[in-house]
Amino acid sequence: MNGKISELEEYAKINNIPIIQSDGINFIINEIKKRNIKNILEIGSAIGYSAIRMALAKDDINVVTIERDTIRYNEAINNINNFNLNTRIKVINIDAFDYIDSNKYDLIFIDAAKGQYIKFFEKFKHNLNDNGIIITDNLEFHGMVNNTDKIKNRNTKQLVKKIEKYILFLKDNKDFNTTFYSVGDGISISKKISS
Ligand code: SAH
Ligand code: MG
Repeated sequence: MNGKISELEEYAKINNIPIIQSDGINFIINEIKKRNIKNILEIGSAIGYSAIRMALAKDDINVVTIERDTIRYNEAINNINNFNLNTRIKVINIDAFDYIDSNKYDLIFIDAAKGQYIKFFEKFKHNLNDNGIIITDNLEFHGMVNNTDKIKNRNTKQLVKKIEKYILFLKDNKDFNTTFYSVGDGISISKKISS
C-alpha cells in the first residue's frame, strides 16, 4: 500500500481520530469495485482517510464528503491535496443536517455521530440512486453492541443503545433490505427494495 496511506493511519492512531478499520475499508473498496460504484456521498470525513481510500479504488470515482469539525475539515483538505485527489473528492465543512443536496449517489456511507444514525439514514436516503446502497460503519462498536450489561459508562451505554435501535430500524425497514457483516467494527449494506 502507498506509504502515504500508512502515514495517515499512523497519524489517526496517535491523535485518536476514529478512522475506519483496515478490514472495513477493504471490504467497502471491494463492494465499490464489484458494484461499479461511481458517485459516493460520505457523512463524516474526519481527516479524509476513508474518502481517499474509496477514491483510490478506481479512477472514475467521485466523492462528496461532509465534516462539521473545522480542524478535521482542514486536515482532510490537506491530505486530499497531497494525494492529488482534489478534483475527485469534494469536502464540505458543514453539519450534515444543514447540508442540502439534490444529487443522487450510488453509495452513501454513514460514518458520523453514532447516536444519530437513524436521522442520517432518513435524511440521506433521498439522495440514493435506485440501485444504490447505504453503508453504515461501527455497528458492533468494539463488541459493545448487544452487550450493554457490561458497560459502566452511562454515555457509552446510551450511545450503544442507539446503535442497537438503528439495527432494529434497519431490520424492520420495509423499503430497504439490509445485510450485516461482522467485518471491521461491524458494517451494514442497505439496498432499496424496488417497487
Ligand atoms: N469516515 C472517516 C471517519 C469519520 S469519524 C474515516 O473512516 O476515515 C466521524 C466524523 O464525523 C468526525 O470527524 C465528526 O466530526 C464527524 N461528524 C459527526 N457528526 C457529524 C455531523 N452531524 N455532520 C458532519 N460531520 C459529523
Ligand atoms: Mg467509523
